[in-house]
Amino acid sequence: MGLTAETNRIVREFDYSDDQLNQGVSEFLAQMELGLEKDGTSLSQIPTYVTGVPNGTEKGLYLAVDLGGTNFRVCSIQLNGDTTFNLTYSKVAIPRELMTAKTAKELFSFLAKQIEVFLRTHHNEHFEHRMRRRFTFSNPEGFQDEEIFRLGFTFSFPVQQIGINKGILMRWTKGFDIPDAVGKDVCELLQTEIDRLGLPVKVAALVNDTVGTLMARSYTSPGKQGAVLGAIFGTGTNGAYIEKLANIKKNVPGSFDKSTGDMVINTEWGSFDNQLNVLPRTPWDHKLDEDSNNRGFQMFEKRVSGMFLGEILRLTIVDLLKQENIQLFRDANSSHNDWVSTTTVAPESGLFKQWGVDTAIMSVAAADNTPSLGTLRQALEDQLLVYSPSLEDAQAFKAIAEAIGRRAARLSAIAVAAIVLKTGKLNDPSWDGEPVDVGVDGSLVEHYPYFRDMMYEAFKTIEGIGEEGANKIQIGIAKDGSGVGAALIALVATAME
Ligand code: ADP
Repeated sequence: MGLTAETNRIVREFDYSDDQLNQGVSEFLAQMELGLEKDGTSLSQIPTYVTGVPNGTEKGLYLAVDLGGTNFRVCSIQLNGDTTFNLTYSKVAIPRELMTAKTAKELFSFLAKQIEVFLRTHHNEHFEHRMRRRFTFSNPEGFQDEEIFRLGFTFSFPVQQIGINKGILMRWTKGFDIPDAVGKDVCELLQTEIDRLGLPVKVAALVNDTVGTLMARSYTSPGKQGAVLGAIFGTGTNGAYIEKLANIKKNVPGSFDKSTGDMVINTEWGSFDNQLNVLPRTPWDHKLDEDSNNRGFQMFEKRVSGMFLGEILRLTIVDLLKQENIQLFRDANSSHNDWVSTTTVAPESGLFKQWGVDTAIMSVAAADNTPSLGTLRQALEDQLLVYSPSLEDAQAFKAIAEAIGRRAARLSAIAVAAIVLKTGKLNDPSWDGEPVDVGVDGSLVEHYPYFRDMMYEAFKTIEGIGEEGANKIQIGIAKDGSGVGAALIALVATAME
């Protein structure tokens, strides 16, 4: 049996045509320019103070820490200088009470303590040796410079960066609330606590995770030229790329190395086209935004990233379930008036709760191409508590999920295509025979079947790229991007000291 007319109608609402793609790219390019000229525009285009990317020959042992949401990760990275690295890793949950501590010191002294524990556990020989030297040998004032571990600090909260290792916390998000820290330099807060413990560690760089992805991919990428763009398609979406200093018209305060003529820009593209000039707006996009706690913001991200795709799907399914004459998840024997109880879905199913559908089930739907859709039907039963879903149920669910996933991939292609075009590398004779490399990270791009293929299909229809250009673009996963990327930024920062 084919799809019902209603399912087909919904699927078509998620079409994003080749013409729309091209308009999207033009708008993205225009918004990139605007963001380079002034603050407060749709694309923030934040200067990162990172002025070069690695080429795979870098060597040394570096530390990286990542304060994201629920966990604090500490790792050390041995860069071997031949595009490979060894990573040692630990993770601790951040105690709830510290997320809302009275003073910044309480949180940051906990973080410094974790760094000490990590060094003692994984680098004890090094550590003890350095600590002994510090206290008993000829250099009581401090460590020899070469004895100090350089650390890259990935801090995923809004900061106003004013130097490679300087950033003022603008506000907390994700359940953190320590007013005392707002307005302060988070690198300094961490360094103070590290110094209090007397550790041989210097916070060398403040790192944004997309920049880390770009750096990690440049180090490990098989090409000679390094990556031009690092992009995340996970819970959220964002990208960082290399821009010519001459093109950054707005003021970049503080000092930095100008010798490369470049600076990495953090686009914050999740907020691309908050005005909805070119982004699609189905009734479900509108509903998702209306019910969100940041209405009118992150409009691109709300159509692209893992946090939101499952919710768009949920809203379409709920709409279908509410229509009496639609045969989806329908219990023919039920005589209740309440629409939930006329379905074969348990009332406690995630389908009836905001954010109740994990985007991961869309990957299951897209990956199951068997005639009976057995895997998907099982997932519907196990994860969404649908009782004995029929083949037709699963077909409808799959068709809508794929339409949402495909639209997300085509929208993602807008951002990548625009930035690739902006770099001019597709027609640069010095890049002849070299791929234009893009490093990506995040569960969506890693696990959603054919996500990258759908992006390539879109590239081919974009003016200025076409089939030939699409073949030159190489999108590769940047594994362990945040750890190794942060280490590489610490390295670049150290070279600039
Ligand atoms: P983060 O971006 O937070 O570092 P991830 O890259 O793992 O973490 O992304 C998590 C997001 O990816 C969540 O929104 C989740 O719903 C989604 N996700 C997890 N697994 C999959 C999958 N197999 N297919 C598609 N999306 C997934």
